Amino acid sequence: MKKGFLISSKAKAKSAKDRFKPGSRPDPEIVKLLYGVVENTEKPQGYEVQRPIMKEMDPLASPERLPEDMTLYTTQPSIFMNATPANHEGWTECLLYPQVKALILATPGFPARLLRPSAPKYRIVPIPDKGQGLVSTANIHASDLILSERPLTLTPASASLSKICFLRELSAKEKYLAALYEWEHSLKILFDRLHRDYQAAFMALANSHQYDGSGPISGIIRTNGMGVSFLEPGKYRTEKPQPGDKGMYTAVCKEISRLNHSCYPNTIAYFDRATFSYQLFAARDIAEGEELTLTYIGLTVPAEARQSKLEPYGFRCTCPACHTSDASDAQRATSLRMEITNIDDGLLKLALMEEQGLQGCFEYSIALNTVMNLYIRIGDADNGCMYAKKIAKRRWDASANVAKMYSSPLAIQSHPLWKKGTQAEPSADELKTLFAGLGLAEEHWASIF
Ligand SMILES: [Zn+2]
Repeated sequence: MKKGFLISSKAKAKSAKDRFKPGSRPDPEIVKLLYGVVENTEKPQGYEVQRPIMKEMDPLASPERLPEDMTLYTTQPSIFMNATPANHEGWTECLLYPQVKALILATPGFPARLLRPSAPKYRIVPIPDKGQGLVSTANIHASDLILSERPLTLTPASASLSKICFLRELSAKEKYLAALYEWEHSLKILFDRLHRDYQAAFMALANSHQYDGSGPISGIIRTNGMGVSFLEPGKYRTEKPQPGDKGMYTAVCKEISRLNHSCYPNTIAYFDRATFSYQLFAARDIAEGEELTLTYIGLTVPAEARQSKLEPYGFRCTCPACHTSDASDAQRATSLRMEITNIDDGLLKLALMEEQGLQGCFEYSIALNTVMNLYIRIGDADNGCMYAKKIAKRRWDASANVAKMYSSPLAIQSHPLWKKGTQAEPSADELKTLFAGLGLAEEHWASIF
């Protein structure tokens, strides 16, 4: 019997409530993907594409009655019948598990209107040795929104073996290739659902996986996909932010996916679930004519480790940080290790991280908040407000909304840490007062203190 197509008796026996418990679904058997040149990638003999198909008729339908291990094709946000890219803000063709759809539909405000920058300040142009890229057409201030767009696709980040049943014993390589064929087959169904303009935009993107057995669609997703946070099955109820917590799902965007990589990036991309869009913000001030760059990988590791993480993309990074890797590695390590015990330490740490282009890192956000808190503790309203405003402008940052509440000289005096000494770390009692005062669950503060 083909697995996954019928609702199993075990799944039927469970109530919907049980099935939607965080972590109740077993982890899929994710395939580790190869890259570069892989020989002999033909479809294995004795294997036929078999993944079950579940298309969704009603994008607004509650998914709670569907089996949890089913893959679901859904258009989000839902669109009217004659929607076109010209008369609509955009939509995303998604391939996901039912509980992830439930999570999306339950997002407060979903689907909110897209945020728009005051004026477009970029254009797409050929970049020497890098294909196409985005270049600023005006000066852009730090934290400004540069563009926002609904992704073309939202899909699992990798192939899975968990739903494939084989008619004969296959070797490990044959199983791997079968998983790639299954994946491409599932993705082709998704691709066929895209509006023809979106299909053309998707196929116009780069593909660095043409010789490793990836199909044309999975190759483009592997090259251009950007991780989407907080959609991981099992984590959707707590939503506790984790540093670098991305993985299960990946989004391909028409424009943001065209940004080239730098380990000294001048932009930060953030997926906002309420608007269902990827938003691109300036990480620092950007001059007219600068190329807009984004990091594809974590930046807190040395240059050599970064280069190996970039290998699947098929290029070696030549950004300023990689060009002067000895000095840059040393400065990155020093800044990340620095503990903040007073305001001067904090300001130095921020300056060192800014010199390395690490404004998008979790550690930078922590340092900004610690400096703000230290100013609040000594009763320095001017500097405390300045930092609160700076944090509030970083709309991708988990602490932005809280900082916004304290960004006036009057409001900051009601902060629970106002004139409370000089220590950098809040005590357990102070944290409790903060949580209670803000009416927020403790886990939301994990990324702030
Ligand atoms: Zn680099």
